[in-house]
Amino acid sequence: MTKILVIEDEEIVRANILEILESGEFEAIGAENGRIGIEIAENQIPDLVICDITMPEIDGYGVLEKLRQNPSTATIPFIFLTARADKTDFRTGMNLGADDYLTKPFRRQELLACIAARLRKQAAYEQRSKRELRQVEAQLNYSLYYDQLTKLPNQLLLRERFQQNLKQSDPREFHSIMLVDLDRFDEITEALGNKRRDLLIQEVASRLTVAVNAKDTVARLQTHKFAIILTPRERATGEAIAQNVLNLLNRPFQSDGYEVCLAASIGIAATVGDGDDLDGTIKNAQIALSHAKQLGGNQYQIYTPELQRVSIDKLALESSLRYALERSELLLQYQPQVSLFEGRITSAEALIRWRHPRRGMVSPGEFIPLAEANGAIVPIGEWVLRTACAQVQKWRTAGLPPVRVAVNISARQFQQSNLTDRLVQILSDTGVPPEFLELELTESTLVQNVAEAKQRLQTWKDLGLKISLDDFGTGYSSLSYLQQFPFDIIKIDRSFVSHVNSDPKNAALTKTIISMAETLNLKVVAEGVETEAELAFLHRQGCGAIQGYFFSRPISADEFAQMLHTDKRLHLPPTQQSETEYATNAF
Ligand code: C2E
Ligand code: MG
Ligand code: MG
Repeated sequence: MTKILVIEDEEIVRANILEILESGEFEAIGAENGRIGIEIAENQIPDLVICDITMPEIDGYGVLEKLRQNPSTATIPFIFLTARADKTDFRTGMNLGADDYLTKPFRRQELLACIAARLRKQAAYEQRSKRELRQVEAQLNYSLYYDQLTKLPNQLLLRERFQQNLKQSDPREFHSIMLVDLDRFDEITEALGNKRRDLLIQEVASRLTVAVNAKDTVARLQTHKFAIILTPRERATGEAIAQNVLNLLNRPFQSDGYEVCLAASIGIAATVGDGDDLDGTIKNAQIALSHAKQLGGNQYQIYTPELQRVSIDKLALESSLRYALERSELLLQYQPQVSLFEGRITSAEALIRWRHPRRGMVSPGEFIPLAEANGAIVPIGEWVLRTACAQVQKWRTAGLPPVRVAVNISARQFQQSNLTDRLVQILSDTGVPPEFLELELTESTLVQNVAEAKQRLQTWKDLGLKISLDDFGTGYSSLSYLQQFPFDIIKIDRSFVSHVNSDPKNAALTKTIISMAETLNLKVVAEGVETEAELAFLHRQGCGAIQGYFFSRPISADEFAQMLHTDKRLHLPPTQQSETEYATNAF
């Protein structure tokens, strides 16, 4: 029942109003002065207050002021009741926040109509406030559960949907989580700026939504990482969705006038056991995702316990790598490079080996990426440079035929800001003239920051060091693009050299690389030459030098010294080419 408080000091008037109200089906409470009125209002919170103006102690204005100050009584509709009909009184009351004004004497109908109008207005006001509150709540809810940029669910909603899916489905069914991470996103979008990058992410989000079924949930977890809950389905269908995601992301993106090509790595894992462990499933999907990345990205991998074992193994290897240097478990082997002009050894590539106390020899292909990732490559790389320089100096002072030593420089090492200073220091400490040291770099190292790389290579060149481009043909750039770097030598990757006789494509490519290098005045070394037939082909094409098992595997420093000492030579097959033609590519 609607509760109305009547504050009126004249008893007759108060009784009269209370009677009218009670007959109008209101619950009416009377107060004989302002102080009591305020007390009742604060304790009982009426739906409306009717209050006289002229009263002893606290007058009506005082009551209104007090009620408006208290948040629990501030919005109660307030009607003034007075014998005064002065305009100024009316204004004062309204200014203080009164809702209406009734002058005595009034008729019953007048009073009830005034109350009804106030209550209607109050109901409308309350309804609007409730609506606004609901809107704010919805907005809050939205930002709690959705990603602002893509409007996709966030991690919290992903969790709720996952639990919801489990509740609604057959407990024997498997649910899967697919993690999608964009490959090299920061690198690719570095030049785009934040606005274009955001647009790109939005477009990625909408492609992901298109790639899955309506019942699947696509959520954004991090800047360029998404998770998809796949509703239970056949494994093959899950794989088809992963492939579909890859295909859609591979299509060029138009970002505000820019065309960008993206790729992603995907890891998929299914729930296990009672199936309610989202974190465990995400962890497994992450293991599969890391595996996909290690395999070069732009592919999906499905979690298996075997993958987990591999990743634990890797962790163990990584931690023991930190001590490999101080425990003297690292060593260098040297592989000869032989001139196809003279048949003699011109250089030695220093190749690192790790003699692991339990595993035996670990190949650099396995541990260099780990050393790159955890930063151990910096001290290891410095050790390689120092050891190789000391070795070449040892051979020189032993009076052996002069050979250059080639050292591989990894990407992380190349980014080291004081690398040039370290090189200069090592050369001076070991006494090796700069032209006896060659530094091998791969294209991926150089393209990370072209301007800086060009400058650094030029400094090295000015110092008199030799620079070679390793594994040429495995990257993406053309030789003419790479021409902007001051190389002396390019090393054709083994993947081109092998089967050069049986694979016409490899033969044509190798031939083109050799002739292009010649026009660019670069020396060419063919890597991984294993057979006489490969050697003959390279020789015929005018390749400058070879390195490979055919002449020698990587060997110890002592064995290498022995080889120099006996002057082991390559017996070159006869060709139709004249010696002057080779001279262009000789060292
Ligand atoms: P890379 O610089 O391209 O070195 C050539 C690789 O090819 C060596 O593998 C060598 O043993 C192998 N190889 C040479 N001739 C033949 C052949 O005829 N047939 C076959 N099948 N293989 C041949 P390795 O020693 O396992 O080194 C692998 C890679 O590890 C190197 O590739 C290089 O990128 C990296 N690496 C080796 N030592 C170092 C180092 O000291 N520092 C850095 N940063 N990376 C290194
Ligand atoms: Mg190399
Ligand atoms: Mg190589």
